[in-house]
Amino acid sequence: MTQVVCTWVPSPKHRYLDHPERPERLRGLERWRQETTLSLVWLPVTPATEEDVYRVHHPRMWERLQSECATGPRVIDYAPTYVTPSSCRDALHAAGGVLTALRAILEGQARRGFAIVRPPGHHATRTVSMGFCLLNNVAIGAAYALAQGLERVAIVDFDAHHGNGTEAIFVDEERVGFLSLHQWGIYPGTGDLEDHPHARGRIVNVPLEAFTGDQGYARLFGEVVVPWLERWHPQLLLVSAGFDAHWQDPLTQLGLSAGGFARLARYLVQAADALGARGALFVLEGGYHPPAVAASIQAVLHALAEADLPQEAGQYPSPYPEPDVTDLAHRVRTLHGLS
Ligand SMILES: [Zn+2]
Repeated sequence: MTQVVCTWVPSPKHRYLDHPERPERLRGLERWRQETTLSLVWLPVTPATEEDVYRVHHPRMWERLQSECATGPRVIDYAPTYVTPSSCRDALHAAGGVLTALRAILEGQARRGFAIVRPPGHHATRTVSMGFCLLNNVAIGAAYALAQGLERVAIVDFDAHHGNGTEAIFVDEERVGFLSLHQWGIYPGTGDLEDHPHARGRIVNVPLEAFTGDQGYARLFGEVVVPWLERWHPQLLLVSAGFDAHWQDPLTQLGLSAGGFARLARYLVQAADALGARGALFVLEGGYHPPAVAASIQAVLHALAEADLPQEAGQYPSPYPEPDVTDLAHRVRTLHGLS
């Protein structure tokens, strides 16, 4: 089995009433991660430093967030995004979970990793925490890799929501390629196919119709995501792995199953290996149906470890018919020169 480095930042004090971004999201993994026979190496997390944060975020944003946390618990926007007195510390540990696993990959300890962290990050921009996200964990990881001298980093974001924060942070950064697949028309409303004409081939948005599921995603990964990775030829692959595209998720209307997520993970790590990348690091973003989140993360970890998927995974595919993605795949390929 292939070794996978993992970090675990459940942030039990970062919670607010019945908000869906809650510690219970990870409850189904607590015992499993102790008992699994997969070749997972759980690394002790070193929290991110202010230097790490400031590679991505404006100092005034971090100062504002600290004063908001100090006066929490409170809601800071309409999403609603919330903070508590422990949230800034939790956010530093979440970003640190990414950096700890990333350092292990860059040092050659493993070629695959999964930072299972919360609060999530991909909506946070350089200047604003939003969309349940405080600091942009995956962006802090990418910026660290650039600071280490890497020149081509790819970020694939398969969370059901558009990774607007990550996109905004790197839209003019020529060393970072960003590809987001997301349900069209939901929060935060960004991620149009035609956005950012100056960055064609580097910033790629794949807006999906509701109920796109295992078949549609697999086609799009084969026809768009892998060809894009081959073109971009990254030295490092980071994955914003949100599991709210699961068909049972209460906040969205997409159609992936746990087995479907594992298939996407296999596409990604096989591409990273074939391209000679230093590694592929998955970073948890959203996902609000706790049993689906647990099953999907377990399935992805099986894929990363190159272990057979347990029988029960993927046996509950979406009951809803899928839209045809033929036209979408063609449009994205044409727009970004992948044909
Ligand atoms: Zn999401």
